[in-house]
Amino acid sequence: MTNLIDGKTLANTIKEEIALEVNEIRENDGKIPHLAAILVGEDAASQVYVRNKVRSCEQVGFESTLIRKDTSTTEEELLAIVEDLNNDPEIDGFIVQLPLPKHINEEKITLAIDPKKDVDGFHPANFGRMAQGLPAYLPATPFGIMQMLDRYNIEVEGKECVVLGRSNIVGTPISILLSRKAQPGNATVSLCHSRTQDLKSHTLRADIIVAALGIPEFLRGDMVKEGVVIIDVGINRVDDSTAKRGYRLKGDVHFEEVAPKASFITPVPGGVGPMTVTSLLMNTLKASRGDIYGK
Ligand code: NAD
Repeated sequence: MTNLIDGKTLANTIKEEIALEVNEIRENDGKIPHLAAILVGEDAASQVYVRNKVRSCEQVGFESTLIRKDTSTTEEELLAIVEDLNNDPEIDGFIVQLPLPKHINEEKITLAIDPKKDVDGFHPANFGRMAQGLPAYLPATPFGIMQMLDRYNIEVEGKECVVLGRSNIVGTPISILLSRKAQPGNATVSLCHSRTQDLKSHTLRADIIVAALGIPEFLRGDMVKEGVVIIDVGINRVDDSTAKRGYRLKGDVHFEEVAPKASFITPVPGGVGPMTVTSLLMNTLKASRGDIYGK
């Protein structure tokens, strides 16, 4: 029987839990968690993502600050804003929405963020701590996936996991988290990418597959075994004149072919996507409590 992993409902449950905790903080006259987001430029998808993050903060009772700058903002100006937020005791954590305009070096900006406030978990200090199994802000999407596996009681220990795609924000960190000595974790992980030979031989023996390559419906029914657990990270716009917006969102997995063979599968949309924002809220709560680096 195929079970759907309902990311939307799970994300709402976690938000309710966070909201309860914020209520308690308020009753005890504690400091309300405060997330800031910097958005540079007019990228349509980024505007949607940032709006979503700010709205989610409001839903759980966090304070939020949105700093909007136009495309002409210089690297120096952005670095100055980052520095201000690093030093602002009111702000617990902040994010710089990527991608940035081409004239700004993303790596330089990421490195300028104080790791203590890096609730996106993109700073190499947090990435390194994660890899060593130390407390760290985990990158949002992989953190969300681990939450899903945990809350759905999906056995990970000792399983064969295959990750498709090795990006710094999804594929590589999720491969580390799945193989870490932790719960959930302790899996045997293969990290496949564009240079992998005979990819099907890997996916066919996988108990769990995380697909994060950005190719619509890449994983087909004949590439997986019966009972596989499928986590589909892909969000791809595919032209469709019959759809209201002229496109449909497709994952990296051919849902209709793969779902009948899967024991668990995430839909697109409504799977991994909603969990990403929840992870950011959880990291911000951790930042305000000083869970990772102390107060
Ligand atoms: P990316 O685009 O940076 O990299 C793609 C990866 O796929 C590369 O490592 C490449 O080696 C690998 N790849 C490409 N072709 C391949 C092939 N034929 N066989 C095997 N591997 C191949 O990846 P990303 O930024 O992690 O994004 C992946 C997808 O996930 C995209 O659709 C993106 O929109 C989506 N995404 C979703 C969320 C979410 O919240 N749900 C978050 C981030 C990314």
